[in-house]
Amino acid sequence: MRLKELESYLDLLLDVSHFRDYCPNGLQVEGRSEIGTIISGVTASFELLQAAIEENADAVLVHHGYFWRGENECLIGMKRRRIALLITHDVSLFAYHLPLDAHPEMGNNSQLGHRLGFVETDRFGEQNIAVHGSLSQVVTLRELGVLLERILSRRPLVIGDEAKPIRRVAWCTGAAQDYFDEAIRMGVDVFITGEISEKNVHAARESGVAFISAGHHATERYGVQALGEHVAQKFGITHQFIDVDNPV
Ligand SMILES: [Zn+2]
Repeated sequence: MRLKELESYLDLLLDVSHFRDYCPNGLQVEGRSEIGTIISGVTASFELLQAAIEENADAVLVHHGYFWRGENECLIGMKRRRIALLITHDVSLFAYHLPLDAHPEMGNNSQLGHRLGFVETDRFGEQNIAVHGSLSQVVTLRELGVLLERILSRRPLVIGDEAKPIRRVAWCTGAAQDYFDEAIRMGVDVFITGEISEKNVHAARESGVAFISAGHHATERYGVQALGEHVAQKFGITHQFIDVDNPV
């Protein structure tokens, strides 16, 4: 398929024009005009790009791309090496940040909730990215931690009374620990996100609402995979997800 065709399809599907974000969403680096193979990954690190080029990628699709607000804009050091690798091999980079967290079907939050068997009730937080809902059956906090470890292949950090029954849940993938106060106000039993701050531990202890930090990378593996699979099936191109491990 044509690069331009893929670009307009993804931008429309993810509704990018309706998001205020900290980075540009969409085609960030332009490569060759025909696309037959897409490699997806969480972050456009040098290691992911190298692995993608080895797999003959025409385009790389990620959640964490480049050109973040506040960073040095100059193409020097790590940034030059990454972008030079893409341009030398004529490979495109597509990055979708908040639009990929939020998408009702292929988004990180929907995909994570689906894998954990959560039933979505509503959205909250900035631009309605975070989700609250319920568990399909009541479990203890300890059992929920075990489920997360099994699904994500990573042991989560669980703050709260392990015997506590969990019915209502709020979640947001990535570094969404600042939504914890809002989750507490909504009266959920647990809040799940990717990262945790020191103050969240005290807020969990004092509110009685449990906090689970399940990994930024681990919680954000699924949106980009679902999106890659979707375009591969729709347009008859090849897609592969490459997981470059990250302990955070
Ligand atoms: Zn993220």
